[in-house]
Amino acid sequence: MKNKENACREEDEKLKNKLKRKIVRVCRIMLKENLNINPFGNVSCRLGKRILITPSGMSYEKMRAKDVVEIDLEGKSYGGKPSSEYRMHIEIYKAREDVKAIIHAHPKYATAFAVSRVGIPVFLEEIAEVVGSSIEVSKYALPGSKELARIAAEALRNKNATLLANHGVVCVGDSLEEALDILRILERSAEIYILAKIIGNPYVLDDKNVKKLREMYLKYKSDVNENV
Ligand SMILES: [Zn+2]
Repeated sequence: MKNKENACREEDEKLKNKLKRKIVRVCRIMLKENLNINPFGNVSCRLGKRILITPSGMSYEKMRAKDVVEIDLEGKSYGGKPSSEYRMHIEIYKAREDVKAIIHAHPKYATAFAVSRVGIPVFLEEIAEVVGSSIEVSKYALPGSKELARIAAEALRNKNATLLANHGVVCVGDSLEEALDILRILERSAEIYILAKIIGNPYVLDDKNVKKLREMYLKYKSDVNENV
């Protein structure tokens, strides 16, 4: 019995360390791909009933897996100081059981929409497929505040990405990989939208096609997962 318990604990510890390493990797990718700037933004994922989240105010280059902080859904830390936006992550996880990972970032083009308080419609197939809907701007609240946590959770109740007014973006997914894909598509879409506006007027996809594209993508995703 004891051996079994020890084996389980070892497995849990292995998974925790793997996810911590993944969080650090996502942070580095965001810097490399110009999706974020140091030391802004934060990344988290679920670990059972707890959350693993980036530490407060640490540069992404310096960050190591051991620096990633474990907290519970009440905000209690099990070592280290979590990101100042930990409340926002907690409120989103509480509101969305299906969400397993969250990325908050300040990417250049998407943030241009956030400061203009203009949403991004579904004008590209990949927005329909990967994000699943238009990306709207949520109300302004100070960073790190309970109000911002409440507003972001509400905005993401039935969406996978939102623009935080005068601030940045939040993307959620069923894994860190999916949240990162959504962030990439959001930023690329924002850039393409600005270019398309210079050329003419971007056409928005109709709801029927958006729904169909999303269904096709979700089927493709589940087929890929089945074959892994
Ligand atoms: Zn921020």
